[in-house]
Amino acid sequence: MLVLISNLGSTSFKYRLFRMEAGGGEDVAKGGYERVTDHAVAIHDALEQLQRDGVIGSPDEIDAVGFKTVLGKDLSGCVIADQAAIDALEGFAAVAPAHNPPYAEGIRQFGKLLPNARLVALFETAFYQWTSPASHHYAIPASWRSIGIRRYGFHGASHKFIAERSAELCGREDVAETVRRLYLDGPKTSGPKPFRVISCHLGGSSSVTGIRDGVAIGTSMGFSPQSGLPQNNRVGELDSGALPYAMRTLGLSLEEAERQLTKESGLLGLSGVSNDIRDINEAAATGNADAALALDVLIHSIRHWIGAFLIELGGLDALVFTAGIGENGKALRARVCEGLEAFGIRMDPQANEDCRATESFIQAENSTVKIMVIPANEELVLAREVFRKLS
Ligand code: AMP
Repeated sequence: MLVLISNLGSTSFKYRLFRMEAGGGEDVAKGGYERVTDHAVAIHDALEQLQRDGVIGSPDEIDAVGFKTVLGKDLSGCVIADQAAIDALEGFAAVAPAHNPPYAEGIRQFGKLLPNARLVALFETAFYQWTSPASHHYAIPASWRSIGIRRYGFHGASHKFIAERSAELCGREDVAETVRRLYLDGPKTSGPKPFRVISCHLGGSSSVTGIRDGVAIGTSMGFSPQSGLPQNNRVGELDSGALPYAMRTLGLSLEEAERQLTKESGLLGLSGVSNDIRDINEAAATGNADAALALDVLIHSIRHWIGAFLIELGGLDALVFTAGIGENGKALRARVCEGLEAFGIRMDPQANEDCRATESFIQAENSTVKIMVIPANEELVLAREVFRKLS
């Protein structure tokens, strides 16, 4: 099955083409466009390029297109990307303005350009559809809840991949199989021995998710991607009282306050240096106190959520680091795990140092919890889900 994974930003279009079959898949082509003003033109160009390169004889050979959609109003899961999916994306366009409109438009365009291909949307919220009401509700009036305000969670594709891969690497094939079939069959009742994972997706955008027997029990991100851990330039968690106070005191309009919270906050806002942790590390190492503070706040927040899920899971089998910072940030991983020996979490400093952003176990021999680094590969995750859905 030829599956094209389409990554749509407000001014970008990237794609990867996979040949998928039972038991695996391979990457056969990739490409992308920046500064896109018309997604239809970019998509058309990409299909022509694939033909010119001899990757496909005709666009009709593409069996399916997968979309990593972010947030749907009253819709989640791994679903056929039809008009209902477009309506769901448009219904929450204001909550995910950088993501929802380009995906709604991309689905429309692919529907026109590849009328025979099956279109599949995997919502980033899908992995959290089985979280308990206690974990996904905010304490707000019924009228707020009735318009869909609740904790949804994001990075679902990445955390679900970690659920599957960590189970495989820890010899829990039963749990891995539950994860593979999760969007087809739903959760399985757990076996005699639970498998409890905390997955730390730490990158430009970050979240921590608690997973029991392959199913998410909760996550740090909430209603919108401006929540949870401090993000690269987005605020993360913020007391709702701070917004009206800042608007009144600083004389900000709602639009300006929103812009500052989504573009000038997070690691960039705190450090005043950069939204990239490499620059922040460098500045902190040369004595920049704000850069050091940004790192401290990020690490404090990661540990806060690990603590929350340790309690909720009632113990832990694996702590996993993934995405740009999780895979590369050796010093950060070491600081996250500091002083957690009482919980059975003991890092092997040499294994952590030697880890080259490839799949690795980095716990000490006497650690009861496995500590792992698992590289994220969100496009492949998506191609697999599309293949599972359609086969
Ligand atoms: P992602 O969103 O997963 O692509 O992660 C992007 C972030 O990963 C960047 O903003 C960097 O802060 C971080 N990152 C990437 N490479 C490295 C590295 N070699 N060392 C530390 N952090 C890195």
